[in-house]
Amino acid sequence: MTTAQPSLDLSIIVPVYNEELNLPTLVERIYTATRPLGKSVEIILIDDGSSDDSVRILHELCAEVPELTAVILSRNYGQSAAMSAGFHHAQGHIIISMDGDLQNDPADIPLLLAKLDEGYDVVCGWRKDRQDGYANRVLPSKIANWLIGKMTNVRLHDYGCSLKAYRYEFVKHLTLYGELHRFIPVLVSLDGAKITEIPVNHSPRLLGESKYGIGRTPRVILDLILMFYFQRFATRPLHFFGKSGLLLGLAGGGIELYLAFVKLGLGQDIGDRPLLILGFMLMVSGMLLIAIGILAELIVRVYHESSDTDTYRVREHITPQIIK
Ligand code: UDP
Ligand code: MG
Repeated sequence: MTTAQPSLDLSIIVPVYNEELNLPTLVERIYTATRPLGKSVEIILIDDGSSDDSVRILHELCAEVPELTAVILSRNYGQSAAMSAGFHHAQGHIIISMDGDLQNDPADIPLLLAKLDEGYDVVCGWRKDRQDGYANRVLPSKIANWLIGKMTNVRLHDYGCSLKAYRYEFVKHLTLYGELHRFIPVLVSLDGAKITEIPVNHSPRLLGESKYGIGRTPRVILDLILMFYFQRFATRPLHFFGKSGLLLGLAGGGIELYLAFVKLGLGQDIGDRPLLILGFMLMVSGMLLIAIGILAELIVRVYHESSDTDTYRVREHITPQIIK
C-alpha cells in the first residue's frame, strides 16, 4: 500500500473528553514547548463527544492559535477511537500523542524527538514517578505492564503512558479498535517498529476527573489475549486453531478406536463407559476448531485482499543507482 507523504514536521494529537478546565493551559504549554524547535507543527485536539464546554473553548482557541486544529467527534467513542482520528488527520513526519489533562508534560517533547533521532520508530514515555493513586492505578498497572511484557516480548515499563512519539509510517493507518490504545507498542511491533522508552514527567490530575478505574482489568486481560494471538497467528489462523483441533480430534479418535476394539474384539459392552462420551466430545471439538480456523483463514484473506492491506511493511526500498 502506498502512503501519501506528510507535509509537516510534527503533529501533536490529544484526545479530549470533558477537559474544559485544562484546554487553554494545555494548548499554551504545547505551543511553548514546540515553538523553539523551529519545526512546522500542528496541534490536533480530538474532542471525544464532550458534554461540558470543551467544544466552545476549542472554537475560541482555534481562532487564536493558527497551528491548532480541532476534530470534533459526533459522540463519545473512547480514547482509542479519538487517537485513531488523530492519527488519520495528522500530517507530520513525526506524530506525538499525549493526554489532555495536563498529566503529561509537553516540555518532554524535545526529549522524545531526540530519542527518535537515534534511529527509533517509536519512543514511549515512562511515568517513572507516576502521580496517581497507588492501590487503584499504579499497582494494577505495574502488574499489567509486567504481564504484557512477558506475554508479548515487547519490554516496556509503562504501556499506558499516552505521551509517545511515532514515525508517521507506523501509525498513520493504525485503526485502534476497542481500547487497544494501550497496546500501540505491541501493534507497531507487529510491523517491525524499533521501540524504546524514556522517563517522562507526570503530574497529578488537578482539574477535571479521571475517566478510568480498576474496572478495566478484565478488558485489558482480554485485549492481551488478542495481542498474543495477533503476534503469532494473525495471518495464519488455521495453524492456531488447527493445531489444537488436530490434537483433540486425534485424541478423541484414538479413544473411539480403542472402544471399538473393546466392543468388537473383546465383545464387552461400552454403552455405559464415560470414555465413550469423552472421545466423542474431543472429536467434535477438534472438528469445530479446525472449521473455525478455516473460517478465520477466509476472513484474513478477505480482509487483506479487499482492503488493499499488505501482509508486510517495507522499511526501505533500494533502487539501482545509475553512475554517470
Ligand atoms: N479520553 C477520551 N475519551 C474517553 C476517555 C478519556 O478522549 O472516553 C481522554 C481524556 O480526556 C484524557 C485522556 O483520554 O485526555 C486520558 O484520560 P484520563 O486522564 O481520564 O485517564 P488516566 O490518566 O486517568 O488514565
Ligand atoms: Mg489522566
